Amino acid sequence: CGIVGYIGARQAQDVLVSGLAKLEYRGYDSAGVAIQQSEQNGGGMQVMKKAGKLANLAGELKTAPLSGTLGIGHTRWATHGLPNDTNAHPHATEDGQIVIIHNGIIENYLSLKAALMQRGHVFKSETDSEVLAHLIEEKYGQVGGNLYEAVRQALGEVRGAYGIVVTHANHREIVAARTVSPLVMGVGEGEMFLASDVPALLAYTRQMVFLHDGDMVVLSDDGFRVTDLAGNEVQRQIEHIDWDA
Ligand code: GLU
Repeated sequence: CGIVGYIGARQAQDVLVSGLAKLEYRGYDSAGVAIQQSEQNGGGMQVMKKAGKLANLAGELKTAPLSGTLGIGHTRWATHGLPNDTNAHPHATEDGQIVIIHNGIIENYLSLKAALMQRGHVFKSETDSEVLAHLIEEKYGQVGGNLYEAVRQALGEVRGAYGIVVTHANHREIVAARTVSPLVMGVGEGEMFLASDVPALLAYTRQMVFLHDGDMVVLSDDGFRVTDLAGNEVQRQIEHIDWDA
């Protein structure tokens, strides 16, 4: 339902929680974040997710902060699977290295899930979304560790509507894509933002890029690159938003 992503110099946790709070009007049943831990703190991906109000998650994060400057956050409106902690996003691979957030519905998830399970993948949740994590993990191995290319190839096998945001413990980048579900990027100086809607980002930047249907994007600390789903570069204008939410 609601999506926020951050890469830059700030503590990601703060940006994610405050951004998701601005999207609460959309309604949701659970919330979660994944934050890439800094090398000094041992690296790796940390996930925290909670059924219920964002305040539940925010409370946990206050007691036990997740330190790191790259992260993704989600408020879920369940379509497949009960609203509980396990079904909340982000969803991680078994090794915990890749995490994904998904808005929308993967229509062919049952057949994808059956095939993935036959190939040895173990699922934790009842969501349609979790197939994306496992599918990307497989592609990631096949394409020699290129996260963007792994996501692109995985999306080639998926039918349905999605705003998807992906990150990996060992890559300082966020990969995202959209079909039907909206995504907007916020462009800062030495930092980049991503959200499902403008209000999440207004406190941080007014320089925004509205992604088109079928766009993929790679965010890094100092910029972004947009392509179509076939991998061709596309140009997207930065727009200045001068209204308030
Ligand atoms: N279909 C996904 C789920 O049920 C995503 C729901 C959403 O858009 O929040 O987990």
